[in-house]
Amino acid sequence: MDALDAKYPFFATAREAVADAAVSLPELVAADAPAVERARERVERALMDGTVASESGAFPAESEYDAQAELLSYPIARILVSLLDSQPAIEKYAAAEAATAIDRIREDLATDDELRSVSTPTVTLDDVLAEFDLADAVRPESPRPNPGTGGATATGTGSGPGRDPEHYWIAVGPYLRLTSPSWGESWRLVNRALADGEVRVSREELLDALEAAVEDRVREGLPFELAAGEGIAAELESGVADLKRLLSERTYAGPVDVVAPELFPPCMRNLIEKAERGTDLSPPESFALMAFLVGIGMSPDEVVAFCADTSLDAEGIRYQTEYLSDDRGSQYPPPTCETLANYGICHNEEDHMQVAVDPLAYYEQRVAEADEVTDWREENAAAGEAESE
Ligand code: SF4
Repeated sequence: MDALDAKYPFFATAREAVADAAVSLPELVAADAPAVERARERVERALMDGTVASESGAFPAESEYDAQAELLSYPIARILVSLLDSQPAIEKYAAAEAATAIDRIREDLATDDELRSVSTPTVTLDDVLAEFDLADAVRPESPRPNPGTGGATATGTGSGPGRDPEHYWIAVGPYLRLTSPSWGESWRLVNRALADGEVRVSREELLDALEAAVEDRVREGLPFELAAGEGIAAELESGVADLKRLLSERTYAGPVDVVAPELFPPCMRNLIEKAERGTDLSPPESFALMAFLVGIGMSPDEVVAFCADTSLDAEGIRYQTEYLSDDRGSQYPPPTCETLANYGICHNEEDHMQVAVDPLAYYEQRVAEADEVTDWREENAAAGEAESE
């Protein structure tokens, strides 16, 4: 059992380490071992903040014992999330595990080879590709010969000495399995360079696809079938009750239900402006925007109309907003300002993070303070009527 297993507990080696370890999960739970509290935190952070990183920031684990608690917290977290008896909670949990993992993978890939050591174990891109059986399905783009340099490679688009390739080619099957047109127009196969059964992707897009692979791996096998009130389920009952209570407390009393774009928080205005310029939003950006628009009470149709002149396509908007709009909404509170800052979506202008924990709370405050608020929906309906006359 090593720190890398703890860092990536869904890897096959980590699963083997858990299987080989002479520990019984029911006994650990009965003894209320540190892994149990960390598992509860893992699920709570996943559902509330979209990450499973420890709030204490104590990673990598500082001792063998910490690594063991961190690793064992993963299978216990899977049991906890199964006991929540909620498919959206499973989806959210899997997405949070994947988001955290891809952040760690990004950091690992950015680590200088010389700094890689046993004490701070890291993975390479080849390790991650092999883990998901993608080693033969993904290849870096060959560097372009640089005209006039006698065959030396161009460094602008390919891989030069000391540089990571900026583009890769991925076999079309895995591409279709791991990506979704709902991520934006540019992900549709018709909008992609496609040659000899391979699709061209940027390095960042490859990481998006790998995030989806992690998410699939985490979701696999969930929920476990556990008899309520018996064995490990009985031992975890109070932890599950705490999580359910937290979820219900996070249910909003009711959306603010007014659409006043001029009062939107800067993070959301920036995302809308980016989409209006025709630039694709990344999956976390698009999720944050959709969660916000649904959170303020917009229906899927209204969101589609609101985003009509942007890079967001109607089908993708419907897919995401319908998922967010039904009675599962309480499971999907908008990402917090902290999470959005981690994704680079929030720039905390004039330190206004001080006044709100998430964009919805900030918007509600601005609406409450405004003297007069005009609802975009009324203006839009009036414009529609005027056009039809
Ligand atoms: S502090 Fe919160 S509301 Fe403000 S820009 Fe950042 S994420 Fe948005």
